[in-house]
Amino acid sequence: MKNGNFTYCPNCGKKLELKEVKDEGLIKYCSSCNEFFFPQFNVACSMIVVYKEETLLIKQYNGQDYILVAGYIMQGESAEKAAIREVKEEVGLDVINLRILKTKYFSKSNTLMINLCCEVKDNKVLSNYEVDSYKWFSYEEALNKIKPNSLAKEFYLNYFNNYVGKEKCII
Ligand SMILES: [Zn+2]
Repeated sequence: MKNGNFTYCPNCGKKLELKEVKDEGLIKYCSSCNEFFFPQFNVACSMIVVYKEETLLIKQYNGQDYILVAGYIMQGESAEKAAIREVKEEVGLDVINLRILKTKYFSKSNTLMINLCCEVKDNKVLSNYEVDSYKWFSYEEALNKIKPNSLAKEFYLNYFNNYVGKEKCII
C-alpha cells in the first residue's frame, strides 16, 4: 500500500487525481502508472496500566509531567500484542488482561492513538532506559498527576469516568 498523502505521483511526478474505488470512495490515483495511493498514518498504543486499584504513570524524555506508557504499533502487529510488548519493554510488567477503551487521531504526529487498559500480574516495575521515573497512584491521584491538556489526560478521564468503579470496568 502506497502513501496517500502525496499530491504528485512519487514514481513519475504526475499530479494525482481522485478515482472512485468500489466500497472505498475516492482514492488518489496516478493515471500514468495506473497505481492507487491509499491514506497512510502511524498507529500507536497508549496504556493505562493498572494493578489492584492503582495506576502506573511514568516520566519520559526529560519531561516534568506524568504520562501513560505508550509506543508505536509495528506493521503486522495487533494493538493488543503491541500493548503487551510495550508494557513489558518499558516497565517490565506482564499484562494478564486488557481491553481497548478509546481511539483518537493525533494530528501533530499523524498518528492514530489506541488507548487500552492493561491489568498487570504484579506491581514490581523494572523500567528501561526510555523511562526516567515512574510511580503508582490511586485512580483519583492519577487524575491530578497526569499531564494537563494532553491526550493521555483525555484517555485517562474517559477511563476514570466510564470504567472505574463500574461493572463494565472488569477487564
Ligand atoms: Zn505515476
